[in-house]
Amino acid sequence: MKKIIILLSLFAAWPQAAALQDQVWKAPAKRADAVRALLVTGGHDHDLDFYSVFDDPAIQTLVNPHPLAFSGDMRKRYDVVVLYDMLKSLEEPRRKNLRAFVESGKGVVVLHNGIGDSVDWPWWYEEVVGGRYLFEPVNGKASSYRHDEPQTISVALDHPITKGLGTFRIWDETYKDLWISPQVKVLLRSDNATSDGPVAWISPYAKSRVVYIQLGHDRNANLNPNYQQLVRNAIRWAAGKI
Ligand SMILES: [Zn+2]
Repeated sequence: MKKIIILLSLFAAWPQAAALQDQVWKAPAKRADAVRALLVTGGHDHDLDFYSVFDDPAIQTLVNPHPLAFSGDMRKRYDVVVLYDMLKSLEEPRRKNLRAFVESGKGVVVLHNGIGDSVDWPWWYEEVVGGRYLFEPVNGKASSYRHDEPQTISVALDHPITKGLGTFRIWDETYKDLWISPQVKVLLRSDNATSDGPVAWISPYAKSRVVYIQLGHDRNANLNPNYQQLVRNAIRWAAGKI
């Protein structure tokens, strides 16, 4: 009798087992309205933890290093370009593709070393980013950096990007003597003496939403929940979602 019961229960489970075999595992879906972000890398090595910053159901991130990331028309596939690269000069026609993307109203988030991009392209650093790293002295002064600086970051402007952020501590690289446009709106400030002070801002560029975030050198920033929130907010704001 016991054997019959075991056999019967095996037959009962059979259709279920067959159905399971037909299923293919799929990754958890991103939100239907997720921002399509193109993350451009190259020129600044980074911990693997860097990618955890973008691991968010509201952001679908594809990574492509420079300069190939700018090789085609970026407008159809992406809502926002996130620059974590450092490409001092971008040649035509890649420059043309980036400009078409920005002029079409798509978002731009420049992170950390991205302030060293296209330093020979005044339209880019004056109008779009509102800042530039001075690799060579201008009026006798070049930009400089210092690694591993403890600092307190405070909110300078109430804005969707700073929403949910209070004053926070971070261990990160500082930049000093950047050229910063007087027209930017400063979002966050650092108290560290080796920093210029402003560490996140919105550019005055009118055709699209552009954010610069100076923080983000290594895993001390990448795994800092405040930094993660800041970058995710910036991407969503640049896409017009918040
Ligand atoms: Zn760095």
